[in-house]
Amino acid sequence: MRPATNLINAITVSILIGVYAFYLHYRPSFVLGIVMGSGLGITTFALLRFRSVQRVRYLYLVSYAILMWVGSFVIFNYIGMENLAVWVWSHTKVYYYEGLPTLGTTLVPCNRAMPEIMLGLAVFGRFEYVEAVVKLPSTLQLGILYLIPFIVTALILGRGFCGWICFFGGTVQGCMSGKKVRWKMSSFMKKPTSGEQNIDGLREEVKDVKYGVAIGILLLAISFAVPLICIVCWVFLVQFLWLGIAFILVSIVFVGILPFMNKKRWFCMVICPVGAIINFIEKITPFHVKVDKNICIKCNKCINVCETYAMTRESIEKSGKPNIDCIKCHRCIEVCPVDCIDIHVRGTKIRARSWLIPLSIAAATSWYAWFIISILILPSLLRL
Ligand code: SF4
Ligand code: SF4
Ligand code: SF4
Repeated sequence: MRPATNLINAITVSILIGVYAFYLHYRPSFVLGIVMGSGLGITTFALLRFRSVQRVRYLYLVSYAILMWVGSFVIFNYIGMENLAVWVWSHTKVYYYEGLPTLGTTLVPCNRAMPEIMLGLAVFGRFEYVEAVVKLPSTLQLGILYLIPFIVTALILGRGFCGWICFFGGTVQGCMSGKKVRWKMSSFMKKPTSGEQNIDGLREEVKDVKYGVAIGILLLAISFAVPLICIVCWVFLVQFLWLGIAFILVSIVFVGILPFMNKKRWFCMVICPVGAIINFIEKITPFHVKVDKNICIKCNKCINVCETYAMTRESIEKSGKPNIDCIKCHRCIEVCPVDCIDIHVRGTKIRARSWLIPLSIAAATSWYAWFIISILILPSLLRL
């Protein structure tokens, strides 16, 4: 794999990312600002210049997943189980009654609120704003503010969100560790058109389950009259235990067992409604993976390493692209022996790895700053 960009560009972009990460973290702790700024600057440089980036991406994504889980438990611990229980049972009511002062304050890690918290910090430049912005939602402006990071991230990165940002995807990635495939799960694959098993990917009806899940969740959201995202939020799953138990069982199988046995992202390919929803807009996002069919020597290495069965022999022959489940992880790019795969700006020949990587890192650091900061300084943040 050729490096994503030249040395000068890589240094410039890495410095910019480092400064942005420093900016997000320096207010509560100057040392944290330096650590995050230099760490993410170096990570960006490695991703832009190394010929082999998968170890770096793996470490980066799994680290964010670990930080998110640890951050969540730290926050739970500070808040205390009793307070948490009160909050869990009352917080959704506030969505429909403007002006309630404290009910609904999202001091726990609401996956709807967390990125907005840091956006609020960036926009208003004061850390104290954290306390104001997490009161859900008192005005239309705040409601819009909450939505912006989700919409912008999905519109720019598409399923790249899954390959570079999502903590749940990072958790699945962690469970895929190791090389040995213990279970090929051939019965879920298309019948091989050539002698080789698995090169034609997952059967369509298996991939389509996630769209059914997304529609089911939409219907649940309408019938419970809560925002869509709340249906997959842990708080909602605590409130409706039967849903929570089902979610835990599905997660154990699709996040833990299957990825460990098969080394593919089963939760992301088959279950995740977020991935399904992003797929609806994937075709209008600016970056996509493209294969130069004229150079391809049909070695099938890209197909075998693909985490989501997005790259298939059929997809290469038909369109010179992976299918819509491609999470832009770069694995195929890295293994191609003739360098005929790359990320392009859609509809052009412009190579765009040097754009996608820094954009992903900048977005990820915005999404997770809240958890990283929480682990270190939650008491002073909340002025406990
Ligand atoms: S498919 Fe869902 S769980 Fe998987 S990485 Fe994407 S958003 Fe996260
Ligand atoms: S097609 Fe390539 S970039 Fe897309 S998910 Fe598969 S390996 Fe990753
Ligand atoms: S790894 Fe490259 S050469 Fe091999 S099948 Fe894929 S695109 Fe073709």
